[in-house]
Amino acid sequence: MASSSPEEQCGAEVTDNYETTCWGCGLRVMLPSCAPVFKCGWCGAITDQNKKKRDQRCFGWRVLRDRCFLTVVILFMFFVIFGGVWAIYPVVFSISLLWGIFHSIITTILAIATVSFFSLAAFRCAGTPPNILWGSYPTGGKGDLENYTLCHYCTKPKSPRAHHCRSCGKCILDMDHHCPFIGNCVGAANHHSFICFLISAVLSTNYVSIMSAYASLHMSPPFLYSLGRLKGTTGRDLAWKLLNEIFVAFLRSALFLSSRGLVLVYLFIASVSLQIGLSILLWQQLSFIYQGKTYLSNLSSQTDNEEEEEEKKDCQNLVRFFGFQYFVTRFLSNFWVTRKRHNK
Ligand SMILES: [Zn+2]
Ligand SMILES: [Zn+2]
Ligand SMILES: [Zn+2]
Repeated sequence: MASSSPEEQCGAEVTDNYETTCWGCGLRVMLPSCAPVFKCGWCGAITDQNKKKRDQRCFGWRVLRDRCFLTVVILFMFFVIFGGVWAIYPVVFSISLLWGIFHSIITTILAIATVSFFSLAAFRCAGTPPNILWGSYPTGGKGDLENYTLCHYCTKPKSPRAHHCRSCGKCILDMDHHCPFIGNCVGAANHHSFICFLISAVLSTNYVSIMSAYASLHMSPPFLYSLGRLKGTTGRDLAWKLLNEIFVAFLRSALFLSSRGLVLVYLFIASVSLQIGLSILLWQQLSFIYQGKTYLSNLSSQTDNEEEEEEKKDCQNLVRFFGFQYFVTRFLSNFWVTRKRHNK
């Protein structure tokens, strides 16, 4: 398991042996002095003598940082929801009751979806590795700890699929990354909720930006007037004139003076910038799922064979992730059967 062979490390003629124990089953083994990493023949656990227990000095700071981020994100979400209701609802309802009701239904669905997926991603344990018996010879069976290592932070067996998160202070199964904005890891148990949260957040910010722009334009006639004056302008001048007119109209308008107008402008700017960031994150996450990887496994497997990676890339990965594999496979198999019949 060592990156270079023992001979390379300390010269072929050195044959000093030393006795050590497997951390997994407690069996004693004799090893050459230059082989600090070995895999147990009985339980399959990997012992790495180079890894010493490290202290967790920054743990308190990481927890504090996570709590601050989490509080800011929660406050911001509620500000967008209540600020949006306060600033946009009167405008929409003043146009027509039907439009107002439609808008209320859409905002309720988006707000409930975003807040609940966020809560699931942030407050649920990201994924606990399976509990396993270890430490003494008869307790664990042959091969029970295959490729397990000892986590030097938790002093517990760590499965090959688990990673230790220093911010959460525990091992996480299928860890993707530690997200400070949800104050939690993204792992086996909450990856799904995290992706659903990203999707609903992207949809919500899109909707907020469109509606705040619409309400601002509706509240401020000088904007429409300015835009009307641009008719007939084409080519290079258009962009410059458009910016100029919008700026002048903004200064002239009542929007600039009213608190409702300021909230609308703030909502628009915040939602557009968030939309860009969240869309990039969502795209990156979906492409990792498509490739059958997590963010961490992508980092560690960048040197792997490329052909192997090509094989793993599959839309089925996405289908499996979202849990509607059964529907899609049934639908696709029916589809192919009917197509083949038609071709005959
Ligand atoms: Zn062992
Ligand atoms: Zn650990
Ligand atoms: Zn974490």
